[in-house]
Amino acid sequence: MRPLDEHRAAALALAAPLAPEERGLDELDGMVLAQDVRSEDLLPRWDNSAMDGYAARAADVTPGVVLQVVADLAAGSGDEPVVRPGTVARIMTGAPLPQGADAVVPVEDTDGGTETVTIHEVPATGAHIRRAGEDAVPGDLVVAAGTALGPAHIAAIASVGRATALVHRRPRVAVVSTGDELVPPGTPLMRGQLPDSNSWLLAAAVREAGGEPRRLGPVADDPKALHALLVGLEDVDLVLTSGGVSMGAYDVVKAALADEAGVEFVRVAVQPGKPQGLGRLPNGTPIVTLPGNPVSSFVSFELFVRPALRRMAGHVDVERPTVTATSDDAWSTPPERAQVMPVRFVSDGGDPHVVRATGRGSGSHLVARLALAEGLAVIPASVDSVSAGDRINVLRITP
Ligand code: AMP
Ligand code: MG
Repeated sequence: MRPLDEHRAAALALAAPLAPEERGLDELDGMVLAQDVRSEDLLPRWDNSAMDGYAARAADVTPGVVLQVVADLAAGSGDEPVVRPGTVARIMTGAPLPQGADAVVPVEDTDGGTETVTIHEVPATGAHIRRAGEDAVPGDLVVAAGTALGPAHIAAIASVGRATALVHRRPRVAVVSTGDELVPPGTPLMRGQLPDSNSWLLAAAVREAGGEPRRLGPVADDPKALHALLVGLEDVDLVLTSGGVSMGAYDVVKAALADEAGVEFVRVAVQPGKPQGLGRLPNGTPIVTLPGNPVSSFVSFELFVRPALRRMAGHVDVERPTVTATSDDAWSTPPERAQVMPVRFVSDGGDPHVVRATGRGSGSHLVARLALAEGLAVIPASVDSVSAGDRINVLRITP
């Protein structure tokens, strides 16, 4: 059996960051920046007012002084009045500061006049002025390459005047679930049938990892037809299949790819998820074939596929965050194999405690209970049982 880490490394080795492309601001959320964004100008561009009020000469102002209002400057005003001794300009937040003014008096500290204004409070020189370049000067790094872009990064890119940014493309992933017994969810079941949940699981997991899923299937257990489908796929960066890779009589994925030299089927020392396959289709597209049991499929995606997808999407950090938690639960684990147990957190904060999400059972068919999982405890092959109070490593799979 192949050690877990070895198979993880083999899966990750199938992936390389996808070529960067210029994308519009409305597409950037969640994408990874491929090139530093620097400011090319002063930000803000002009000295401007931080308050609604009056742009004044601080030296002119004594308590109760009446000054003449010579201009009215809204945000966006391109006017260039000059504030001479004895005068002020009415100014709104964001409007460029007029020449001659060296302070802004907030409207609350005045009578609010439009022809003349009475000023009650004396401003300090420089009060309520935002200086040109105080946020960034030309050449300043605004967002670094490798950053996974969120709202604040996108705002920063927009604020330096860029409508696009160079980002890694999202990986396009074909998701093919296999099995004669599978029907689309919502279809009444005949005896022996069950709803296809894996293609929905994997499509959502692909999207969560930053990819674009293309869900195909469920497809029948027909090796010839499946082979034709798989080798004919175009415009995808990765192919994922579910089911048909174990030791049964009708293991369609194994049969379909048996003669493809680029794909290997192996048994991995992990529970669940022992039967695995991966490699490249004849056109070079990477493929990972996941086992059909829903919990196995889920765990296998997390262990083998998600890091590879994140690498393709340009992420530097491809792994889930890991926490050390105390188990409040006890169970035995398979000898000589690592175990990945879905868990939920029962207390968090500085000292997280976990229990098995699946209750007493740990069967790989328990898909409904999988919905309770908040983490995956990874128990090394060398450990044969977990006792209450043991410290275990948990991958956090929920925010
Ligand atoms: P297989 O690996 O194809 O033998 O499937 C193993 C088990 O997982 C069987 O009980 C299947 O019915 C179940 N299974 C396979 N594919 C799916 C799927 N797409 N959705 C839900 N269950 C599945
Ligand atoms: Mg099957």
